[in-house]
Amino acid sequence: MNRPLMQLLVKCPQCDAGLPVTASNAGTAIRCGRCGRDIPLTITDAVRDDRAVDVCPVCEGGEFYARKDFDPKVGLTVVIIGAAISAGFYWFGRDLIAYSILATAALVDLFVYGRLKGLTVCYRCHTEFRGAYPQTAHAFDLHSADVFEKEYERRIGRR
Ligand SMILES: [Zn+2]
Ligand SMILES: [Zn+2]
Repeated sequence: MNRPLMQLLVKCPQCDAGLPVTASNAGTAIRCGRCGRDIPLTITDAVRDDRAVDVCPVCEGGEFYARKDFDPKVGLTVVIIGAAISAGFYWFGRDLIAYSILATAALVDLFVYGRLKGLTVCYRCHTEFRGAYPQTAHAFDLHSADVFEKEYERRIGRR
């Protein structure tokens, strides 16, 4: 069987621990491994089947933003390789080439970054959704984050 799998990273409302959950075989609750809090999950069919992120299983909110799943290791490797090559040219006094290679490395970095898979994040509880579903969420919006986070924190009694 090659069923799509959506991976969730649930953020514990009590201690902020990141708890990985596979949507397709998740139960109705998970227990936080750090603080022991039970976190109820309401996983919709769309999330379970990796079709879409419609409703957040943790806070049942419907507002999400998209961001790139950035792996800092990839970016760092590119910068190090670029720096090593440009250091070689610098040794021969060819500053211009050295700088242009650094600039190229930065561009490659951007390219790698641009090709990274996106993930969807819940505005309210910061649960992350990784999967093959089509990304429909918009980019992060500070105002929305402010509104939804405060609403969620009031609801779970953090403020
Ligand atoms: Zn916890
Ligand atoms: Zn949520």
